[in-house]
Amino acid sequence: MKELASLNHYFWKYRKRFFIGIFFVIASNYFAVLAPQITGYVISLVQQRLPGAKPGVPYNAHDGIVNSFIKLINGNEFSFGWLIAICSLSILFIAIVRGILMFFMRQTIIVMSRHIEFDQKNQVFDQYQRLNTSFYKQNSTGDLMNRISEDVSRVRMYTGPAVMYLINLVTLIGFCIVNMLSKDVNLTLLVLAPLPLLAITIYKVNSIINKKSESIQEHLSNLTTNAQESYSGIRVIKSFVQEKAMLGFFNHNSEQYKANAISLAKVEALYFPSMALMIGISTLITIFVGGMQAMEDPTKVGTIVEFVIYINMLTFPVSAIGWTASMIQRAAASQKRLNEFLQIEPAIQDHPTVLEDEPVSGTIEFKNVSFTYPHTGIKAIQRLNLSVARGEKVLILGKTGSGKSTLAQLLLRFYEPDQGSITIGSKPLQLYSLNQLRQNISYVQQDVFLFSDTVANNIRFGVSEHTTIERVIEAAKSASIHEEIMGFENGYETLIGERGVTLSGGQKQRISIARALIKAPEIVLFDDCLSAVDAKTEKHIIGHLYEYLKAKTALIVTHRIFAGFKFDQIIVLEDGIIIEQGTHEELMNLNGYYAELYKLQLQTNKEA
Ligand code: ADP
Ligand code: MG
Repeated sequence: MKELASLNHYFWKYRKRFFIGIFFVIASNYFAVLAPQITGYVISLVQQRLPGAKPGVPYNAHDGIVNSFIKLINGNEFSFGWLIAICSLSILFIAIVRGILMFFMRQTIIVMSRHIEFDQKNQVFDQYQRLNTSFYKQNSTGDLMNRISEDVSRVRMYTGPAVMYLINLVTLIGFCIVNMLSKDVNLTLLVLAPLPLLAITIYKVNSIINKKSESIQEHLSNLTTNAQESYSGIRVIKSFVQEKAMLGFFNHNSEQYKANAISLAKVEALYFPSMALMIGISTLITIFVGGMQAMEDPTKVGTIVEFVIYINMLTFPVSAIGWTASMIQRAAASQKRLNEFLQIEPAIQDHPTVLEDEPVSGTIEFKNVSFTYPHTGIKAIQRLNLSVARGEKVLILGKTGSGKSTLAQLLLRFYEPDQGSITIGSKPLQLYSLNQLRQNISYVQQDVFLFSDTVANNIRFGVSEHTTIERVIEAAKSASIHEEIMGFENGYETLIGERGVTLSGGQKQRISIARALIKAPEIVLFDDCLSAVDAKTEKHIIGHLYEYLKAKTALIVTHRIFAGFKFDQIIVLEDGIIIEQGTHEELMNLNGYYAELYKLQLQTNKEA
C-alpha cells in the first residue's frame, strides 16, 4: 500500500476540491440518517394510537434537529392525518437535499480524480520523452503504452471512487452507529455482528471475480489475436492446407474461454445471495430481539423500524468495503509499476556541470571513437577519427549497415561512445546540455516521421509554434517542396496522414528537410534524406541547399554522390571503419569505392 503514498501530493494539490468533497459526503450522510428517525417517530405515533396501547416514553430522536422538528409539529395541534403528511413531505425533502449533496460529492471528488489522472498521464508522457532510444529498443513501445494507460486508469479508481466510497462508508457507518447506540446498545451490537462477516465475504468473492475476469480478458485477447492472424494469414493457411489445424486450435482456445466465463458466472451468482443472506440475518435479529423488547415497551416499535432502515442503509456501503479494498489493491499494484517506470533514469543525461547556454559551434572532432550496440553486440563504429572544421561540408558514403546513421546518432548523443571522445569546438559533447546540443544541430533522419497535423505545423515542429508562415514558406522553398504544398487543396493547412493527404516518400523527405532548415542551426546533419527523391528534384534541392549551407557545417550521409556540390571532405565507411578519406580529387586518384561509385553514377546520369 505504501506505493499509494506517492499520490498524496496530488490530493494536496487538489485539496480544495478534496475537502469540499469530504464536506459534501459528510453532509449527505448526515441528511441520510435523519429520515429513519422521522420514520421511527411516525411509527411510534401510530403505535400510540392503536387500541389498547400502553403509554410509554414518548419517542425521542437522537438528532437535535429532528427533535426540534418533532416539538414544532407537536406544538401545532395538527390532526393525525396532517402529522403523517408533514412527516412524509419532510422525508421527501430530506431525500432531495441528500440527492443534491451527493451530486456535488461526485462533482468534486470524481472530478478531482480526473484531474489527477490527467496529471499522471502528463507525467508518464514526460518520462517517455526523457527516456533514450536504448530504452525503446529494450521495451516494446505498444505494450508499454497500453499497460501504462491501464495502470493510470486503475489508479484513478483509487483516487476517485475508492476514496469517495471509503469516506462515505466511514461517515455513514459512524452516523448510523451513533444513532443506534443512543437508542439501544445491546441491540446495536447484536445487529451489527453479521456485518463484518458480510464485508469479508464480499471482499473474498470480489477477489475471485477479479482474478477470473482478468484470466477471461487474457483468453479473449488470445482468441482475438488468433482470429486476426488467421484472417491475415489466410493465404498461407490455405496454401499449406492447414485450415483444419487452425480450426482445432481456435476451438481449443474458445473452449477454454467458455469454461472460464461459466465459472465466473457461478461466482457472480453467489454475490447477491450472500449479501442478501447477511442482511437478512441482521434484519431477523433486529425484529426478533427488538420484538421481545417491544412486548415490554410498545414505543420500542419505532426504534425497531428505525434499526431496520439503518441496516438496509448500511448494506451498500458495507458491501462496498469488499470491492473498495480490491480496487485499492489493484491501484497499489498499478502505482507500483508506474513508480518503477517513472523512476527509470535515462541512460544519457545532462552532466551536472553542463554549460547551459554554451553555443554549439566550432570544429567537430571524433577521436578514436568506437561504439557497440549493447543489445546486439554489433560493432557499429570502430576507432573512428574525423575532424570537421567549422563551415566544412562532409560527404559520408558507405553501404547499408556500414555505420553512417550510427555516426550521426553519436553526434546527437542518442548513444554514448564506448571509447574515444567526440568534441565540438574542443569541448566534449557531455559539456553541452542535451537541449542545447539538439537545438543546434539540425538532424534529418533517415526514416522520416511526420505527425498527423498540418503541413505548416510539421515544418515548424522544432521551433516556436508561433513561427510565421513566411518563415515556413521560406524553409519549404529551400527544400523544394513549396510548389507541391501549394498544389494541395488547403495549401500549408492541409492535414497529413490518415485524415489528410497521403504524401509520397520524396515529399515526406522534403517536408522533413524543411523542418530541419527552419531551425537555422550551426550544424546540419542529413542522413540519407534524399533517397526517395528523383534525380531532377534532387538537383533542384541541392542547388537551394548549397546556398543555404554556405555558412554552416554540414555532414551529409548518402549512398549517391551529389554532382555539383563541392565537398571539403569525403569519407567512405565500411563496417564502422573509415576506408577512404580525402577530397574528391584525392579519392578519384585512389581509385577505390568512391571513384567507382562516381564513375558508375556518371554513366547512369548519361544514360538517363
Ligand atoms: P547505415 O546507416 O550505414 O546503414 P547503421 O549505422 O544504421 O548503418 O548500422 C550500423 C550497424 O549497426 C548495422 O550492422 C546495423 O545492423 C547495426 N544497428 C543499427 N542500429 C542498431 C540498433 N538500434 N541496435 C542494434 N544494432 C543496430
Ligand atoms: Mg542509415
